[in-house]
Amino acid sequence: MILIVDDKAENIYSLKKLLEAKNFSVDTAMSGEETLKKVLKNNYALIILDVQMPGMDGFEVAETLSGFSKTKNIPIIFLSAVNTDKKFITKGYASGGIDYVTKPVDPDILLLKVKTFYRLYEQTLILNETQKNLQSEIEIRKKVQEELRKKVEHLHFTLESLPQIAFTATEEGDIDFVNKKWFGYSVTDKNFPPVHPEDKDIFQEWSIAMLTDSLLEMEVRIKKINGEAYRFHLLRIVPIKEDGRVVKWVGTFTDIEDQKQIEKKKDEFLSIASHELKTPLTSIKAYVQLLERSLKAEDNSPVGTYIHRVQSQLDKLQNLITDLLDISKIENGKLKLNKRPFCLSSLIDNVVNTIKHTYGNVQLEILQEGERLDREIIADENRVEQVLINYLTNALKYAPDSDKIIIKTEKMREFVKVSVTDFGTGISENNQKSIFDKFYRVEETSVKFQGLGIGLYICSEIIRQHNGDVGINSKLGNGATFYFTLPLNYN
Ligand code: ADP
Repeated sequence: MILIVDDKAENIYSLKKLLEAKNFSVDTAMSGEETLKKVLKNNYALIILDVQMPGMDGFEVAETLSGFSKTKNIPIIFLSAVNTDKKFITKGYASGGIDYVTKPVDPDILLLKVKTFYRLYEQTLILNETQKNLQSEIEIRKKVQEELRKKVEHLHFTLESLPQIAFTATEEGDIDFVNKKWFGYSVTDKNFPPVHPEDKDIFQEWSIAMLTDSLLEMEVRIKKINGEAYRFHLLRIVPIKEDGRVVKWVGTFTDIEDQKQIEKKKDEFLSIASHELKTPLTSIKAYVQLLERSLKAEDNSPVGTYIHRVQSQLDKLQNLITDLLDISKIENGKLKLNKRPFCLSSLIDNVVNTIKHTYGNVQLEILQEGERLDREIIADENRVEQVLINYLTNALKYAPDSDKIIIKTEKMREFVKVSVTDFGTGISENNQKSIFDKFYRVEETSVKFQGLGIGLYICSEIIRQHNGDVGINSKLGNGATFYFTLPLNYN
């Protein structure tokens, strides 16, 4: 809005008409005092100010306006019929006015000036707004930076108080903080502590994890700068993500040497115990067999039934010992595969027949998807059979109410997938994650069914050694599908 100030109503009238004809909104005041009251109340883009007025003259008004922060930047065009003298014009500028027009007013010139000032006013408004926004943006950034600094400080403090060696790194993998413990193992804060010559290179492993922004977990042997023996440490490097993007990595080395030693002793015990148990068991089986044979065929006494029961319990015992032996073989890297060509479909048929024979009333359905598996694949037949039997006996054991088990083979381009589906209680998503772990048993079922929780672990190791994959698809209450894949290494 433009404010016209003049003590003569006729002057105001003609100017008002002129500006309103050009769509400017206009307000008026007839004295300096009225002007001051109005400018404090309203916002004006421009003031057209008559110099000669009774009471406060135009220059006094302008001087007063320049003293208030609200009004000091309002442009003023002075109008005067008499003060054309240069010194008056200078006074007009000094008191805060921006332009000076002498009467009689040339309407075109005045309009041009008004338009220019108005545009200037609008631009100033925009500039002020932009500056305000920028200022608040700067404030926000400062606050964010301060918060970030505090977070980093807090993180460093936490890492410093850990008993582990700890560090952080930038998103590109440059180490940018290490705690004091670090220097017990590495002389520089830029390189990882040197690892045992037989262990994998940390940076190399980490750069693989970085490709997928995923957590790195590996066991490495490191030693104290002044110490002699290497000790096993679990290294974990965790990506910290913001909006799905890695912004930092936080790493720790945890000393697991004592656990490793205990685990080694346990493995040794398992290995010795299962070996020692195997020998007497073999003799017991042989004697029971002799006993069975020495019983006369026509002997109807309950001894025969007892012997059969003993034999079935001995078989169970033998399976357990074989599993334990397998575990110790896996732990010692001695699970050797005897790969030879064989027909997977025939193996499945044989296993199905054996299971049907043993578990009489079970309905087993075999489905085939993709091309037929006629060509022989190269793998360890006995071990693959062991995996399939394990899946099937688990289905029978843990899904006793399931009236059907489906065995499906799917031939893919480079793999064959064999899956066993039952319609039992299934396994919750939470338990699925660990189901192939050593000694893992689902708590709810472990009370009802006996077992050691090693069958699936052995299966996964056998398949892993074949460069295949194991997995499970299940929904609690909706049955389970256990599968394994084998690469199609053809004969
Ligand atoms: P074990 O049978 O000796 O416990 P496994 O390694 O074969 O060991 O199985 C591990 C666990 O997985 C079992 O204890 C059981 O809780 C669960 N499980 C395996 N197969 C099934 C299945 N088909 N349905 C439901 N749970 C199963």
